[in-house]
Amino acid sequence: MFEKILIANRGEIALRIHRACREMGIHTVAVHSTADADAMHVRLADESVCIGAAPSKDSYLNIPAILTAANITNADAIHPGVGFLSENAHFADMVSEHGITFIGPSAEHMRLMGDKISAKAKIKELGLPVVPGTDEAITDIDEALVTAKSIGYPVLVKASGGGGGKGMKVARSSEGLRSAISLAKAEAKAHFGNDEVYLEKFLSNPRHIEIQILADQHGNVVHLAERDCSLQRRHQKVLEEAPSPALNAATRDKIGAKVVKAIRKLGYYGVGTIEFLYENGKFYFIEMNTRLQVEHPITEMISGIDLVREQIRVAAGAKLDLVQKKLQFSGHAIECRINAESPETFIPSPGRITDYHAPGGLDVRVDSGLYSGYEVPSHYDSMIAKLIVRGRSRNECLMRLRRALEEFVIGGIETTIPLHQRLITEPDFINGDYDIHWLENLLGI
Ligand code: ADP
Repeated sequence: MFEKILIANRGEIALRIHRACREMGIHTVAVHSTADADAMHVRLADESVCIGAAPSKDSYLNIPAILTAANITNADAIHPGVGFLSENAHFADMVSEHGITFIGPSAEHMRLMGDKISAKAKIKELGLPVVPGTDEAITDIDEALVTAKSIGYPVLVKASGGGGGKGMKVARSSEGLRSAISLAKAEAKAHFGNDEVYLEKFLSNPRHIEIQILADQHGNVVHLAERDCSLQRRHQKVLEEAPSPALNAATRDKIGAKVVKAIRKLGYYGVGTIEFLYENGKFYFIEMNTRLQVEHPITEMISGIDLVREQIRVAAGAKLDLVQKKLQFSGHAIECRINAESPETFIPSPGRITDYHAPGGLDVRVDSGLYSGYEVPSHYDSMIAKLIVRGRSRNECLMRLRRALEEFVIGGIETTIPLHQRLITEPDFINGDYDIHWLENLLGI
């Protein structure tokens, strides 16, 4: 097992990883930008190294600085967390070249799944259903017009290198397709440095349902059921729940078994998420994330399994000691992503936290690096806390969530707590009756 892990991330996820390491008796190294010198992950880690200025490109994306920090502290592994370098195959290669273990899958699998076109092709070959669309990047507008006609409008233009809902444009007609392609290409170029785009059927009322998998380097693969992440704004998840109100046990077992079979054939190891859209009883693969997900705690709440611990163990070469048949998913869990933003306009609201009180009690978990007096920097993602609640039933979970949201005090800045309070009282949400467009319709976007 590793003796010392460098955590190449910040905020709540850095803290989450630190916690798993400490419980495994592993020492931690925090890296941080100048803006994060007072952050909680830096305070709690055994050692810390400042790796650069506030902008991410100078610090959390600065590969030479991170590798130097690992070298001088003698870290034997690096955990990339989520976002930043977590899906960067070049970084994984560089880490290995320096004789350090990258806590994640092989760089080869990261590369394959990081390109959505090759990912879809591979997943199709492995026998899982994918959203109908083009198998290759669009090179010619006339060809795209022919393909779109055969798929049927509306179609979605998506970036092959996409992530975070960027580089995605809907086209409802042939006239709209031309501009959708050029807009998506421009956005993809700006965000991912790769302007390859492809076409997909735009599904009108699907749910976003994803399957969590866990695999070791010895061919053992299990799934840890699904998460429903249909509550989204601008293709970004806002609230997630497990299990999905839309699946029954038989459907779960069936899709879970198919996914496990495909992942085993792929020879993949580490944690991973296979994302599907689910419409009219059918699953359609959209992408695979080769890293930990922000919403992983809801799976932990219903399975009792520490995903970060398992991720570290399999990276160290250990065998999974989990057997599918023995895994039990119990109760219902919901996560609210709390952002430093106006709950109405979604304009970021960084600044000093004047008061802080986190909710507690049975089955209430808060993943956050906040504390009273902390200054939320303006340079990074606006998510500042995750509130995760479990109940024996969905109803109990909702009642507990309502209570926990009431207790949560984050003073001094605006947060999206009132948005969550509003949406969990909506009858459709209470009935579990929503799709990926529901939240935007509610907000009138
Ligand atoms: P990203 O990697 O940018 O997050 P995804 O492919 O995971 O992109 O899609 C993000 C979200 O965009 C999905 O959860 C869904 O809400 C929407 N989306 C993606 N593909 C489609 C599609 N073919 N039809 C309708 N909505 C889609």
